[in-house]
Amino acid sequence: MKTISHWINGGYVPAGERRTHVTNPATGKVTAELALASVEDAQAAVAAATTAYPAWRDTSLTRRTQILFSFRELLNARKGELAAIVTAEHGKVFDDALGEVSRGLEVVEFACGMPHLMKGSYTENASTQVDIHSVRQALGPVAIISPFNFPAMVPMWFFPLAIAAGNTVILKPSEKVPTAAGWMAELWKEAGLPDGVFNVLQGDKVAVDTLLTHPDVKAVSFVGSTPIAKYVYETATANGKRVQALGGAKNHMIVLPDADLDLAADAAINAGFGSAGERCMAISALLAVGGIADGLVAKIAQRANALRTGDGLRGCDMGPLVTSAHRDKVTGYVDAGEEAGATLVVDGRTVTPDAEGDGYFIGPTLFDNVTTGMSIYQDEIFGPVLSVLRVESFDAALAVINANPYGNGTAVFTNDGGAARRFQNEVEVGMVGINVPVPVPMAYYSFGGWKNSLFGDTHAHGTEGVSFFTRGKAVTTRWADPSHGGINLGFPQNA
Ligand code: NAD
Repeated sequence: MKTISHWINGGYVPAGERRTHVTNPATGKVTAELALASVEDAQAAVAAATTAYPAWRDTSLTRRTQILFSFRELLNARKGELAAIVTAEHGKVFDDALGEVSRGLEVVEFACGMPHLMKGSYTENASTQVDIHSVRQALGPVAIISPFNFPAMVPMWFFPLAIAAGNTVILKPSEKVPTAAGWMAELWKEAGLPDGVFNVLQGDKVAVDTLLTHPDVKAVSFVGSTPIAKYVYETATANGKRVQALGGAKNHMIVLPDADLDLAADAAINAGFGSAGERCMAISALLAVGGIADGLVAKIAQRANALRTGDGLRGCDMGPLVTSAHRDKVTGYVDAGEEAGATLVVDGRTVTPDAEGDGYFIGPTLFDNVTTGMSIYQDEIFGPVLSVLRVESFDAALAVINANPYGNGTAVFTNDGGAARRFQNEVEVGMVGINVPVPVPMAYYSFGGWKNSLFGDTHAHGTEGVSFFTRGKAVTTRWADPSHGGINLGFPQNA
């Protein structure tokens, strides 16, 4: 069986004694052994990033972005390989995995514009013969700690910008889905990235805690569940680091009485059950306003019953959950919803998956008549469980969303422009869809939630991502007289 280890200073290093197993969630089979970093392994990764930093920071922007372009070309040509790795370890169906890689690729493309994004400004004669200009500079080694549900895309929300801006990176992927990170490290090497600029540290809390407290790590980008995001934010900021820690979610979709119910039902299915509900932007609560609930629930149920659940490589609509423990947790929530008195319309516990072996499946599950006091409403289930809450009015629906402690994504389905406008204005959520169920912003906008869905000031990628991975400097200048000389008749070139 293969052993997956850390990628430090341009190559894989031997695995230490702490290990765990990686499984294929569609079959339940163990596919690899994974090294879990010791404190010394984590220190070695930071040391590699620290050593590589000065030369990388001083590498010209032209050369840095040329390497970004090469990485983009290689990734685009070989994205199917990465998607297959994602399907094998996460379980999401292949097309969905390909979509995740494409969304990550968008951030690489955005980061190729770093020469423009990092431009400073200049003011001549701010005072008599005094000029002032601003620059943005890299921070140093930065840590990226990512969750299991997007093994390729979430790291790519951060590292293309971090690297293009002149930082060096230590990526700590989720121990459930470790292979994608090493694969991307190999691709960086092929693209010409110097050794030590991008490092992968495999592991668990030991690796994370070392990164959060190490004095040479200057910034931390974290994505994961809310309790860990809060812990990461508090620990790393207490250790003097810049932190953006994206947490969990409970995303609501409002359907107003004037909406097209067929389009709304399609959207609820796609956003509720895509990636088996293991998306931070998944819709898990649907607020049906007025008298539309009976008709809408029937349409969603009909579509949910037609979905095929199984191995993501077999052309199914929905794959397994990531581990047996997580499947059992989600099943426990379905039991709890029934006990609490919600109406179970579609029961995913009885699914017969299209897969070999003993995978971690639960089919699409639909509850009606859910109330805000029930655990299926209150908790982030992170599985294919969609809860319909019946509410009297738009105001009541908005109040439910704004009272929720999370604020990652939300959507309204309506043909009423006034209602939609009021929704975007008043809803306390970071990413809003108007007739768009999964409103993940493009790479040139920033991704992030509000309230318990994000700790820190800056969102991921877009211009906020550029700000996060750089710091500003303002320079005030006075020269007594012109002193620049030298002759060169050649056409000016980048170097
Ligand atoms: P998780 O919090 O369990 O793990 C995230 C990372 O933290 C992993 O790398 C893990 O190894 C590490 N970690 C876990 N426990 C730790 C501990 N005690 N101390 C230090 N580090 C620890 O999250 P997950 O289950 O991998 O991912 C699912 C969660 O991520 C969901 O809550 C989901 O909403 C959230 N998520 C949020 C976003 C977003 O943009 N807000 C995006 C994707 C996922």
